[in-house]
Amino acid sequence: MKVPLLDLAAHHASLRVELLDAVRRVMGDERYILGPEVEALEREIAARCEVRHGVGVSSGSDALIVALMALGIGPGDEVVTTTYTFFATAGAIHRLGATPVFVDIDPESFNLDQAATVAAIGSRTKAIVPVHLFGRCASLDEILLAASARGVPVIEDAAQAIGAATPDGRAVGSFGVATCFSFYPSKSLGALGDGGMVVSDDDRFADQVRLLRGHGARPEYVHEVVGGNFRLDALQAALLRVKLAHLDRSLAGRAKAAARYRALFAERANDVPIALPGDVRGHTYSLFVIRADRRDELREHLGRCSIGSAVYYPIPLHLQACFQELGYGEGDLPIAERAARETLALPLYPEITEEQQRAVVDACLAFYS
Ligand SMILES: *Cc1c(COP(=O)(O)O)cnc(C)c1O
Repeated sequence: MKVPLLDLAAHHASLRVELLDAVRRVMGDERYILGPEVEALEREIAARCEVRHGVGVSSGSDALIVALMALGIGPGDEVVTTTYTFFATAGAIHRLGATPVFVDIDPESFNLDQAATVAAIGSRTKAIVPVHLFGRCASLDEILLAASARGVPVIEDAAQAIGAATPDGRAVGSFGVATCFSFYPSKSLGALGDGGMVVSDDDRFADQVRLLRGHGARPEYVHEVVGGNFRLDALQAALLRVKLAHLDRSLAGRAKAAARYRALFAERANDVPIALPGDVRGHTYSLFVIRADRRDELREHLGRCSIGSAVYYPIPLHLQACFQELGYGEGDLPIAERAARETLALPLYPEITEEQQRAVVDACLAFYS
């Protein structure tokens, strides 16, 4: 049996009529950039995050860049972030001329280690960017406390974590000054193209992001600041609104599939050298990431069984060639380095069937037996 890592066709099949209606609606309106569809999506996502403002932007990467620009971050500034994340988190910092300060992770959640983050705050720290990795809300209490005591803003990278919450029920999107989302097609809320959003409860911050999104023009052709083209298009917004209406159902499907993996692994073998992701409330499993002994061999074996898998991420950011000048070396952030050697994402999407999951678990067990 073939089990892809992700099956967007299965997801879109059930929404096909609604998605096509959304395209027709936009083509009837003829406003293709920003406009009423984008504004409606902004309101809907902000409401979900229990904040006042959403600003639709061109991608999750651009959401990070424009949020950091709105804080005025530039050369000479340091931004503390995790070394174990998608490249865009640190790329945004670097592109503004600032210096990423990389921190190690908590081995269980893969999210930023709070004590290490607090210890990394220095006199040049102008922001902290925690990432809610793999759909699990990062623990931020100590970070938020230290950040507010030092007057350092926190920008959350929730590109993988729309709909996630803390175990006691607080939604991702309302902890820091702003939160950045990505609507890349494979994310839990994916467009049929690129898209992203910055949400914030801070009027002035959100207004600045809105200004920077359109080249800093206000009114049109009058520029007090230099921004960029970070606009979201109406087609993506309209398609995202369709999918947003089904987000809770699809997150429930992910949670159910995660629980089923747990049950299947537990029922079949207790001694496979695999650690499953934490069973915590509020986790949305945008990726179902295990740790495994002989990870690369397991991955090859799964491939031979027609089972998709992927490594997120094989090289922590502090060891990337483009950041060599920052002076980090092998062994500096060992927990992330170890995760990079051991983690593997298994197929998980709302429509995955029990039969498919059994095939994945069977193939994993066969490899170790
Ligand atoms: C996907 C992702 C981004 C970037 O989002 P794009 O929409 O692809 O630009 C940023 N940070 C993290 C953690 C991501 O997973």
